[in-house]
Amino acid sequence: MAYKFIDNYREQGARKRLVEVLRKKGIEDERVLKAIGKIPRHFFFDETFWNQAYKDIAFPIGAGQTISQPYTVAYQTELLHINKGDKVLEIGTGCGYQTCVLMELGANVVTIERQETLYERTIQVLPYMGYKPQFFLGDGSIGKAEHAPYDKIIVTAGAPTVPETLLKQLNIGGILVIPVGDEQFQKMVTVLKTGEHDYERHELDTFRFVPLVGDRAW
Ligand code: SAM
Repeated sequence: MAYKFIDNYREQGARKRLVEVLRKKGIEDERVLKAIGKIPRHFFFDETFWNQAYKDIAFPIGAGQTISQPYTVAYQTELLHINKGDKVLEIGTGCGYQTCVLMELGANVVTIERQETLYERTIQVLPYMGYKPQFFLGDGSIGKAEHAPYDKIIVTAGAPTVPETLLKQLNIGGILVIPVGDEQFQKMVTVLKTGEHDYERHELDTFRFVPLVGDRAW
């Protein structure tokens, strides 16, 4: 497949306006806003739909999945409090847009996707754009024990519960951000690991994600 990577004034202008929309909706972390202002989100869309790329909406990416709404990407990223050099496990690579945002903040990302068509596309597109996470194809609901522990874990699909396996793979002081609920609506949940078996859990706003499908999920 031939990809088209052109970033002209129209897209750059639309990106600036998107950043202002996110700021108005409550995103405060300037580093997150800067990353969103930098990454050409239209590169993840077919050219026919470039006019949709800088709207604050989720959009189909094939295989019955979606690129998350920019607000959701910014919201989850802000909650992770990424420090440069953090080792981050991302479950649900999708098209890889969220991966790029994490990497712009200086994270070293291990990312897992279960849909082969999305995985195959992402392992080509992201390196072409200059982002080189560690990509894996498989069930991320069990995490990736070989590369654990992680400073941060982000799940970009809706889970029925917080998988215990993911908590085990977090460093003490680490943060997990995961949408938890039913197949329709989920609350964003953050879990801070305060000791080997101690956690602080917070439930935040309601979102709508595609389901996390796997051994420790739906
Ligand atoms: N992060 C993406 C972005 O930047 O917009 C959006 C991800 S999409 C909302 C959720 C993704 O999670 C889908 O691509 C889906 O195939 C994937 N997924 C669902 N269950 C999974 C699992 N158990 N392991 C890995 N990926 C999974």
